[in-house]
Amino acid sequence: MKFDLDMDNVSKQINESKAKRVLIQLPEGMKMYAGEIVDHLSKNTKAEIITSGNSNWGGCDIALDEANNLKVDLLVHFGHAQFIKADFPILYVEIKDNTDLTELLEKSLNSINNYKKIGLVSSIQHMHKIEDVKKYYENEGKDVSIPNKKGFAAYDGHVVGCEYNSLKLIDKEVDCFIVLGNQFHSLGAALSVNKPVILIDTYNMEIVEMEKLKEKVIKQRAIAINKIKEAKNIGIIIGTKPGQRFGTYETIKKKLEAIGKNITILTMDEVTQDKLTNFYNIQGFIELACPRIAIEDYGKYDKPIITYRESLVVLNEMKWEDLLEKGFL
Ligand code: SF4
Repeated sequence: MKFDLDMDNVSKQINESKAKRVLIQLPEGMKMYAGEIVDHLSKNTKAEIITSGNSNWGGCDIALDEANNLKVDLLVHFGHAQFIKADFPILYVEIKDNTDLTELLEKSLNSINNYKKIGLVSSIQHMHKIEDVKKYYENEGKDVSIPNKKGFAAYDGHVVGCEYNSLKLIDKEVDCFIVLGNQFHSLGAALSVNKPVILIDTYNMEIVEMEKLKEKVIKQRAIAINKIKEAKNIGIIIGTKPGQRFGTYETIKKKLEAIGKNITILTMDEVTQDKLTNFYNIQGFIELACPRIAIEDYGKYDKPIITYRESLVVLNEMKWEDLLEKGFL
């Protein structure tokens, strides 16, 4: 396994907690290792280990309902840093990806030839390498800034997919951003800042300049926003995952009704086309759950879905140009 889960430490912490029943949550890419992980924990702790089969998209997605229903003593959430405070014992296990970055860093030099000042950020899996990567670029003559943590970020230089305020802090000072991780985080960055974003893609082992995809997604966002402007019947989707609450439905409901829209408030844990299909009379949705549902999954839905932030454009509280300037996330 190229991932380091520090399982001995996880076992130690479970033992120290004296938990008798433990629910573990694995991110999608780690579910294939569920057997090995449960085996290790069962052999090294006295706890009964139950694995959640539900999604684990982020630190926002903590399985509190499952944990309460199963009456577990401890929830072990793999793959993400703490995102929100919860009134339940949770052990967060940040998985380290030990992919050797040497070749990728060398390759990336072509893409940053024309840039001197670099903003460097990383997804949680590569945070343990960020200082080494910084030194690498400095040895290549670059000025490298790691932004201070802000908002949902757990560490300086850490990015989560729904908020990029730390990058915005240094947007004016750098020539480009480099993101260590995957397309999810780098696309979010590209949609949030006004400088070129270059992805060091440790999953596909390639360097990706994000400008083309950014342009494509911006066109999709413009189409979705315009369709919601034209829609008469709109559904506002409230996410029920503990950390997926972006915006308040009461306020936008009132404002949308004031401009002649009919509003239906819906709740969903996961937003899927299957769930949306039966709401025949609704012409489009504003989702207040993870903002990446609307952006990332554009092609999966028959009807337009926009984010809370984009709804401000529908309400004329933000100009489209300002959204472009200030970022979609
Ligand atoms: S809200 Fe979305 S982007 Fe933010 S942490 Fe959760 S899954 Fe990731």
